[in-house]
Amino acid sequence: MLITTNGVVLKERAQGENDKFIDVLTGDMGIISICAKGARKLNSKNAGSTQLFSYSKLCFSQRSDRYYLNSSEIISSFFNIGTDIESLALASYFSELLRYSVPSGMPCENILKLLLNTLYFLNNGKRSCAFLKPLFEFRLLCEIGLMPGLIGCCECYEFRSNSMFFDILNGKLYCDRCFNGEIGCNTVRINDSELHVLRYIALSDFDKLYNFKTSGALEKSVSEITEKYVLAHFNKSFNTLSYYKSLLMQGGNSG
Ligand SMILES: [Zn+2]
Repeated sequence: MLITTNGVVLKERAQGENDKFIDVLTGDMGIISICAKGARKLNSKNAGSTQLFSYSKLCFSQRSDRYYLNSSEIISSFFNIGTDIESLALASYFSELLRYSVPSGMPCENILKLLLNTLYFLNNGKRSCAFLKPLFEFRLLCEIGLMPGLIGCCECYEFRSNSMFFDILNGKLYCDRCFNGEIGCNTVRINDSELHVLRYIALSDFDKLYNFKTSGALEKSVSEITEKYVLAHFNKSFNTLSYYKSLLMQGGNSG
């Protein structure tokens, strides 16, 4: 039986001389691994469509518990991502986050939409890496069921106060009257603008998600919060994130 679905290649792993396995994020089957025989040959008809970050229509068969690629058709290659080292590093981090966090077999239409839209803007350069990083990190966690309570203070329901406190690990907001904890690595002070951006990222429809206005300083402070949110909930560090941040340090970029 042949299965046809669309997906984005998140990782390629070489197998033998000419073959490779690809990990693919699909909308209906979650992340699946497909063996693409001969796809590493230069003249293979599946070479382009099985490349990293290609969005392709894939037709494959299942034998025992493995999938084997039959034919494929490229929908979008997001070619420019591979030509910019910072974009490539960021997309690789997104890929690692997805491979770590998306349960196999989980339908993920929204996660695929998030990835496709993000790759679209990385590819055409109309949104910066600094803008896209916190957006992708935070919305991904919201989509997999880790959305924090952002509506207001979890004790008195105050929508906004001079400063709020965000308990990252428990996903709770406190106003300054109700907060009686301590600021630490997993509890941060959060200002009105930062909270506004987090709410926007968590709750906007996809057609508006990439349209908010921000500044370099705000992107940076929100990114610190969303990164803490990711690391606290996965209790893990990501090599691809370390690499992305090392690039920023080298470039003297504040993003
Ligand atoms: Zn309160």
